[in-house]
Amino acid sequence: MPQDTADTVQPLTILTDDEQIFRQSVREFAEAQVKPLVREMDEEAAIPRALIDQLFGLGVMGIEVPDTLGGAGGRFFHSVLAVEELSRVDPAVGVLVDVQNTLVINALLRWASQALRQRYLPRLSADVVGAYALSEAGAGSDAFALTTRATRRADTYILDGRKLWITNANEADLFIVFATLDPSAGYRGITAFLVERSFGGFAVGKKEDKLGIRASSTCELILEGCEVPAGNVLGEPGTGYKVAIETLNEGRIGIGAQMVGLARGAFDATVAYVKERRQFGRTLREFQAVQHQLARAAVELEAATLTVYNAARLRDARRPFLTEAAICKIFSSEVAERIASLAVNLFGGNGFVKDYPVEKFFRDAKIGQIYEGTSNLQLQTIAKQIMGT
Ligand SMILES: Cc1cc2nc3c(=O)[nH]c(=O)nc-3n(C[C@H](O)[C@H](O)[C@H](O)COP(=O)(O)OP(=O)(O)OC[C@H]3O[C@@H](n4cnc5c(N)ncnc54)[C@H](O)[C@@H]3O)c2cc1C
Repeated sequence: MPQDTADTVQPLTILTDDEQIFRQSVREFAEAQVKPLVREMDEEAAIPRALIDQLFGLGVMGIEVPDTLGGAGGRFFHSVLAVEELSRVDPAVGVLVDVQNTLVINALLRWASQALRQRYLPRLSADVVGAYALSEAGAGSDAFALTTRATRRADTYILDGRKLWITNANEADLFIVFATLDPSAGYRGITAFLVERSFGGFAVGKKEDKLGIRASSTCELILEGCEVPAGNVLGEPGTGYKVAIETLNEGRIGIGAQMVGLARGAFDATVAYVKERRQFGRTLREFQAVQHQLARAAVELEAATLTVYNAARLRDARRPFLTEAAICKIFSSEVAERIASLAVNLFGGNGFVKDYPVEKFFRDAKIGQIYEGTSNLQLQTIAKQIMGT
């Protein structure tokens, strides 16, 4: 055996000192600042601006932005830790931070011109929330069937169309909007634009009333003659499909982290509950059936966490991670649904009422199998990789 194996090969779940400190700071913030607001935010279907400002203050809204541009200078893995820890308390807050970092900032870091980086990354790290607008009413899984149209006019582009289900739309001041320059060119016409909320012809439309992650805003965007400076193209005209594919490939690791955090929150609440709740003269934890159910949940949670950390570590190591990202997203979202469901069962009647946290985890879990590529689409990616179909 090589002598240095123990020094160079780290277990996936061993965090570096800075990762540990970072995770601890987000965990403490989530417990102290987010937890007291969870029920109210769910009922009001809104995240208070004051909490968003605190997230900026904590440094989790510009995690990978270099410190020279006002960000935290972290890695993708830090984003995963932040999303996981916030989602352990509230997956709606988790997804706000997830979209900001793993989609919006990620796309800018990779595709923005120097001028766009200088203009937008400091603001995204300081006080501007971002949103990522690909989906349309007729273009969900088939995202590149989008019909929002971009027309060049002198040194601007004019955008016309509607986007649907856009996370963070209520809070955001900057939107990455995908539109086509030429519908006959198929995916090769698709172009990504940076659209400010204040641009003429842009409006945020109806807000969806949802089953779960209710505090996270999900809205329609209305683009009617929306004028975007030509310099606000992200990447090159016609490369929007690449921007979309590459950011979503990474973004779904963030959804894996959201689901692992959610599962952890439901699991921890349940372990505490079964130690307190007494039936038949004993605590629930003394029943072997309950012990085995929770042991099985622990197995699944460990496995899901490993898939997420592995995909994130591969991404930071600049190694291929496409299949691993799809695996982590589908598996974590299924595990989250199963563990949240078990939590409701083991809380009994209390699992069904809003005075306890698990009914919300159960509702929130469902979205993990839908956004950033449904489970069927993840299976397609995995199948393509293993069978070359
Ligand atoms: C809360 C929420 C937040 C969202 N946030 C954003 C956002 O910020 N930005 C954004 O752009 N979009 C966002 N979306 C949109 C989301 O990404 C889409 O809903 C998702 O991609 C699925 O598209 P669809 O709803 O049109 O479903 P469809 O594509 O109509 O799929 C319906 C069903 O058919 C299956 N299916 C479709 N095609 C195939 C196929 N080829 N093979 C097998 N099965 C198939 C799907 O798996 C699914 O089960 C959000 C959606 C929600 C609900």
